[in-house]
Amino acid sequence: MRYQDHKTMSDEEFVTYFENKVADTINRFEMIKQGDKILVACSGGKDSTVVLYLMKKFGYDVEAFTVDVIIGKYTKQNLENLKKMCTQIGVKLHEKSFKDSYGYSLCYIKARLYQKDVKLKSCTICGVLRRTLLNQGVRENKATKVVTGHNMDDEIEAVMMNLFKNNLKVSARLGPVPGILKHGSFIQRIKPLYFCSEDEVERYSKLKKFPVEYGYCPCSIDSQRRDVANFLEEMEKINPLVKFNIMDHFVKVLPKLRKKYAGVQESLETCIGCGEPSSRELCRACQILEQFEPREEHTRSRSKVLNMPELNVLA
Ligand code: SF4
Ligand SMILES: [Zn+2]
Repeated sequence: MRYQDHKTMSDEEFVTYFENKVADTINRFEMIKQGDKILVACSGGKDSTVVLYLMKKFGYDVEAFTVDVIIGKYTKQNLENLKKMCTQIGVKLHEKSFKDSYGYSLCYIKARLYQKDVKLKSCTICGVLRRTLLNQGVRENKATKVVTGHNMDDEIEAVMMNLFKNNLKVSARLGPVPGILKHGSFIQRIKPLYFCSEDEVERYSKLKKFPVEYGYCPCSIDSQRRDVANFLEEMEKINPLVKFNIMDHFVKVLPKLRKKYAGVQESLETCIGCGEPSSRELCRACQILEQFEPREEHTRSRSKVLNMPELNVLA
């Protein structure tokens, strides 16, 4: 990797540099093949909005997909912004929501789990339950690739969190084209913004005047990721290249990590609750739903989510 400070570039130079970097990442890692149908996982935030715009600009067959997890004004505004963006650039938007799919908002699910002494962080519940709905959206819309808005800062934070837990096996699954466990219904994810820093994405989004909010999700306050991001920001004051160095180091060791864990990566099974790919008998989403509502209570709502006959949900 070669370090380039975008702050020294004029706006015009920066836009060209940024777009070329994303296009190069797509080409270098052969992320997209002819005939691919791309679904961009959108939140209405800057990263997914930028990558959605670029996928369309680059001429790919692209549609947008979003899950409304319902976090008050925050997600309401994001959804409005996303709809506006999709209309502006002529991209079809597919929507799902926690309310329609699970019957409740993220905040309610978290609060009720807390009452039952299940102390999961918002981001854990949100990420796991959203992933299930994204998988469904991918299949329903017959997408062949899923684009996510992960940027370089997101990846560095993930690397650091895995390092803190000494979890190299999970790091081996990171990368611009994440390593996946084998399962028939798994669709490849790709990260075209992999080498773009958060600052760069924000600058591009602001220059293009995209309709996005730049604040944090109010539910991220207790997330470990936020702690790691704050830690890295402090480190950056001492060494401005710290993030770049971590990333540079990681992309060098990633092929070795992949090789090391190639033989021991778990192959995915099919969850007996919902049929999604899972490394356990019951996937994480089904486990959370099981803790949220006992089986008899949630059979009706879950069968709706999972499109399965009511009495066979856990059969
Ligand atoms: S920050 Fe956490 S809670 Fe908020 S949308 Fe992202 S994953 Fe969900
Ligand atoms: Zn499941």
